[in-house]
Amino acid sequence: MFENLQDRLGSILNGLTGRGSLSEADVSVALREVRRALLEADVALDVVRSFTDRVREKAVGAEILKSIKPGQMVVKIVHDELIEMLGGEGVGIDLHAPAPVVVMMVGLQGSGKTTTTAKIANRLSTREKKKVLMASLDTRRPAAQEQLRQLGAQASIDTLPVIAGQSPTDIAARAVQAARLGGHDVVILDTAGRTHIDEPLMVEMADIKRKSNPHEILLVADSLTGQDAVNLARNFDERVGITGLVLTRMDGDGRGGAALSMRAVTGKPIKLIGVGEKMSELEEFHPRRIADRILGMGDIVSLVERAAENIDAEKAAAMAAKMAKGKFDLDDLADQLRQMQKMGGMGGIMGMMPGMAGMKDKMAAAGLDDKLFGRQIAIIQSMTKAERANPDLLKHSRKKRIAAGSGTDAAAINKLLKMHRQMADMMKMMGGKGKGGLMKQMMG
Ligand code: GDP
Ligand code: MG
Repeated sequence: MFENLQDRLGSILNGLTGRGSLSEADVSVALREVRRALLEADVALDVVRSFTDRVREKAVGAEILKSIKPGQMVVKIVHDELIEMLGGEGVGIDLHAPAPVVVMMVGLQGSGKTTTTAKIANRLSTREKKKVLMASLDTRRPAAQEQLRQLGAQASIDTLPVIAGQSPTDIAARAVQAARLGGHDVVILDTAGRTHIDEPLMVEMADIKRKSNPHEILLVADSLTGQDAVNLARNFDERVGITGLVLTRMDGDGRGGAALSMRAVTGKPIKLIGVGEKMSELEEFHPRRIADRILGMGDIVSLVERAAENIDAEKAAAMAAKMAKGKFDLDDLADQLRQMQKMGGMGGIMGMMPGMAGMKDKMAAAGLDDKLFGRQIAIIQSMTKAERANPDLLKHSRKKRIAAGSGTDAAAINKLLKMHRQMADMMKMMGGKGKGGLMKQMMG
């Protein structure tokens, strides 16, 4: 099995005591290990290089969350960047074209084209109620056409009858014609592969494409493909022009590095993954899962995510303690407003509190509207420190100054002060209520 990146980082991380922000040295040490993990996951060398450069740029100077180590922080940044590079979720097969929509499967021999053809046909037919025709264009391997016919029979999917002696391009043209006549929504062309990329294969694929005008051209690739993944994807994309990728054998113990390599060089979405030999073993692609797998370490990532949550919880607890004592000045209000903005506004906060629906209306009536948060923060920022600590200082001339500074008017300031008084009262009440206070219970 692969050595866990977390174990490996362990000893190095203990040596790093820096707090605050990530230094160039912290990042370099951690990235050396990340680089090794990526190479072990079979990510292509070029891709590893450009990827670590991007991470370095983002990581140096990034703030380190309390209670985690700098190396772990780097790993979190790596993980997020991986997800981003792997692309969005759930990009399905695009069928937005006049019927019959032609889907062409390309790839090396043994990559799983024929199996995936049947899996996709089965999926479109059962889930989307599409009428699908499959055609084998593999005239090279004697049993290839029979293999597809059997899969079709097994799943009750139509297959194009075999006519001996036809060329792949002729079969392609006949398949499209048959689909048109047969009222099929989709026709899937299962092409022949080679053991490696060569000129005749590329010429054949280009010819088939010209003859059949496919809407989707899916490159089927074995997820265990190593450093060749880049070459493979680049060649097929440049010579044939692919619209997406399907990775097979994700049920194996490969780490899925090929996904990153192929996505990085083509920029084309990974549409589906094969997770077994059975007809049903085809799944949507989830970038997060693959990122976890490439790094082999979901635990560090969740640790960092929890640390981020705890910081907010700590702030909230400190606030609750202050409120319990009845101290709630305008600085506290500004903090509270910022937290509220972060937590999805009033709706989000009230939604988290049992029995608070009425409170929400009350606060709205007091002018505590989500859209006002930004303006209210601006008003508070225009005040002096003394004014924020003691709102009673705010007489007419000061209000005029603050209104000018925040681009608001005296009415808005009065509204804010009224809200502050109401909130201070409410917070005091909540802070003092029951065991440890409602606020503490809620935030703790
Ligand atoms: P083709 O030459 O590209 O058409 O490849 P095939 O579809 O004939 O597949 C070659 C072999 O790989 C067959 O034995 C399939 O059952 C197997 N295979 C295809 N996809 C998967 C997959 O996602 N997982 C596993 N474990 N095996 C697969
Ligand atoms: Mg085949």
